[in-house]
Amino acid sequence: MLSSLGLKGRGLGRPRSAISSEFSESKGAGYAESVLFLYTERAMSCLFCKIVEGAIPSTAIYQDDLCYAFADIHPQAPVHVLIAPREHIVSLADGEEADRALFGHLLWVAARIARDKDLAAGYRVVVNTGEDGGQTVDHLHFHLLGGRSLTWPPG
Ligand code: 5GP
Ligand code: ZN
Repeated sequence: MLSSLGLKGRGLGRPRSAISSEFSESKGAGYAESVLFLYTERAMSCLFCKIVEGAIPSTAIYQDDLCYAFADIHPQAPVHVLIAPREHIVSLADGEEADRALFGHLLWVAARIARDKDLAAGYRVVVNTGEDGGQTVDHLHFHLLGGRSLTWPPG
């Protein structure tokens, strides 16, 4: 699965490109270690990282090598599923070139869950991003909402 998507080798332990060798060469070796420390610290204290790892219980809906989907604790519709990458990525705005296939995969998973949940009448996929976007958990997640008629525009 990972290799078919060209995504093998990515995971929580792997620093993102902020600590690429090019960057660390320009800033000094100690800088890369500091960024790695901060990255690891943030991931370790992240609610959704803990849910993905199973350290905090959740109701699993779907999972694969790249993502974990679980029921929202405060559902806003009869079906309200959160789809989160296993890797700690803060938000859609933090996507890198290497995340293109992963982001597409998350959308594909949303559609697959919608099919499994018989949401043939329609549904909505929402990615709240940043403060103005209403994001409250700083680990990328797609909301899949369905099972009722949804109003537009959102607030
Ligand atoms: P956001 O506001 O970041 O777009 O969405 C965060 C979502 O996570 C909210 O819909 C909220 O209800 C959900 N959530 C927050 N804490 C937990 C939790 O501990 N478990 C589960 N399953 N969902 C949570
Ligand atoms: Zn996280």
